[in-house]
Amino acid sequence: MVDGTTRSGASLPSVGPDARRRRVSYFYEPTIGDYYYGQGHPMKPHRIRMAHNLIVHYNLHRRMEICRPYPATPADIQLFHSPDYVSFLSYVTPETAANPALTRFLKRFKVGEDCPVFDGLFWFCQASSGGSIGSAVKLNRGDADITINWAGGLHHAKKSEASGFCYVNDIVLGILELLKVHRRVLYVDIDVHHGDGVEEAFYTTDRVMTVSFHKYGDFFPGSGHIKDTGAHAGKNYAVNVPLNDGMDDESFQGMFRPIMEKVMELYRPDAVVLQCGADSLSGDRLGCFNLSVRGHADCLRFLRSYNVPLMVLGGGGYTMRNVARCWCYEVSLFLTHLC
Ligand SMILES: [Zn+2]
Repeated sequence: MVDGTTRSGASLPSVGPDARRRRVSYFYEPTIGDYYYGQGHPMKPHRIRMAHNLIVHYNLHRRMEICRPYPATPADIQLFHSPDYVSFLSYVTPETAANPALTRFLKRFKVGEDCPVFDGLFWFCQASSGGSIGSAVKLNRGDADITINWAGGLHHAKKSEASGFCYVNDIVLGILELLKVHRRVLYVDIDVHHGDGVEEAFYTTDRVMTVSFHKYGDFFPGSGHIKDTGAHAGKNYAVNVPLNDGMDDESFQGMFRPIMEKVMELYRPDAVVLQCGADSLSGDRLGCFNLSVRGHADCLRFLRSYNVPLMVLGGGGYTMRNVARCWCYEVSLFLTHLC
């Protein structure tokens, strides 16, 4: 009865448009929490394991399909990234990075400071992007209504450059996979930072619309001006919502709902990809917004109500306990009939 019909095919009494429980596939690599960016680095993959442990303790894993991602291959990753960058990422280790012969590559690919070389770096990238590509395959086949990959959402990575703790842009790879089947894909980004890598990748096409809500002004990465709206065939298919510090639930929803309502009405996407960076929560170590978990989750609740295939991804989030709470709560949201 998960699809809202009885075995005989008769419809259950309707409880509103949200009544049907969605088929949810959740991608999780059990070793993801072991990767470590280094002492003092704010990005901690352990938060994904914390979210997972909460999900298991609330028994939410029994109500969705759990998938271990296939690691993305270098060939998969090269569908967006340049071959020399991918071969560098697959080769570099903390030991080889110390070799002076590699210095110019570290510089060229912007690997070193914000984006350090750590043990298992490429495996981490393969697991993160494998989850997003696997999510797209599931949605393409119609095997799930909603997919979740908290290890994904690394929106700053560029074609030949690491940026903002991101090396491989799993989102771009996931969207490219979705485009094999879907005519129009909508990308929505509620991380406190601008979704620059994804915007740039699809800036000149109308097959992907990108919408980013972010802090703007003296804040990383510096892009995402309201007047940046796309180019060529992609003109007016990039939307930027630059915001000030301290956005609370009410002020955020006051922008999010009317904008997304209009976007959904006009663009009518065949699939939606939502980057759920949790650094827009109140009390984040790097963020400066003031959203509660409920306010953050309202964005997911709202987009879910359209019943369009939905890929849910992680992103930033630097106060670990808040990230884990938020992402666990958001999983529960997708598994309930009424919310
Ligand atoms: Zn962020």
